[in-house]
Amino acid sequence: MTAQSRAIVLSAFETPFEMKSFDIPEPGKNAAIVDVEYAGICGTDVHLQAGRLPIPTPVVLGHEAVGRIAALGEGLTHDVLGAPLAVGDAVAWQNSVACGRCRYCLVEQQPTLCTGSRRIYGINQSADAFPHLSGGWADSMYLQPGTTLVKLPEGITPRDVIPLGCAGPTAVHGVLYETKISFGDIVVIQGSGPVGVAAAIYAQLSGAGKVIIVGGPASRLQTTANLGVGHEHFDVMDGTSTEDRIAAVKAMTPHSQGADVVIECAGIPSAVAEGIEMVRPGGQYCVVGQYTDHGTTPINPHYITRKQLTVQGSWGFSPQHYIRYIQTLPRLLAEFDLSSILTEYPLDQANQAVADVKAGSVMKAVLRPTTAGV
Ligand SMILES: [Zn+2]
Ligand SMILES: [Zn+2]
Repeated sequence: MTAQSRAIVLSAFETPFEMKSFDIPEPGKNAAIVDVEYAGICGTDVHLQAGRLPIPTPVVLGHEAVGRIAALGEGLTHDVLGAPLAVGDAVAWQNSVACGRCRYCLVEQQPTLCTGSRRIYGINQSADAFPHLSGGWADSMYLQPGTTLVKLPEGITPRDVIPLGCAGPTAVHGVLYETKISFGDIVVIQGSGPVGVAAAIYAQLSGAGKVIIVGGPASRLQTTANLGVGHEHFDVMDGTSTEDRIAAVKAMTPHSQGADVVIECAGIPSAVAEGIEMVRPGGQYCVVGQYTDHGTTPINPHYITRKQLTVQGSWGFSPQHYIRYIQTLPRLLAEFDLSSILTEYPLDQANQAVADVKAGSVMKAVLRPTTAGV
């Protein structure tokens, strides 16, 4: 194969993205080449461009992508669930490959905490090193051996997968695995970005009696409400104080005691102090949104002791969370028109797309590298 693939490259921090071309290699043993149909842009990409994480450059960004099999390497005959694979199949894949050798991979069964050489597509793979095409913002991607690759369920298209690209599996981890939502629970979601929306969806489908979304701006809350996600929507940008927000949320719970479960998806450190006050005594607080380090914040730990709170952390997602996301998509799509949150851009408009994400003017920006059928 001597074909070439375009790719969007970040050559140095705080510089615009550049379009480059790379040869598409033959897939090695247990590897695959995929044609990317959709690649998402997430808030993390804005941080990566700004140099807030220690990643190699140049790098092809794009840690959420979905597409079709273009070529299969020797030995790669079935997906992770046992379905046979063929060229043209619509597939999705976990965006990281843990080392498979460290304590957290082998003993603790928590590969999100892998201390070995965890490879993350679109984040920590240098575009200078083989196979070069290691990010989703490209026509083609090289999926390395060990990638958790799954054929999309019947009736599910790549366009269905991308609206909650990395937000969906992140919410699966936090909501379905780290917290225990009981039927009828009152759940507060702090944050109304893609992770907040996904968390609210999973809370609702888990049987929550009422889901209260505390976020902003108003336009985003309106989009969320139009989707049918969340039962109450509280705008934090409406000139409210911390005390106002806590009181307003508690007033939506029985006897103003607070919510059974509060899930932080805001990514702002100060949200944690506020969220802890919104939980009822004996309730749960789960911190999902602090994916990158935005610094310290004062909290009153007395509330944790006095209210006997269960406080959990949930970082990223592992293959089991990703597969659960793909498997639950038919259920999500039956209830929510997720594609309505998408704004599509051609691959060569990556800079504009990232600028729009930064400005918060779009709910979910996606690049559309190929014009192949969906
Ligand atoms: Zn992301
Ligand atoms: Zn490991």
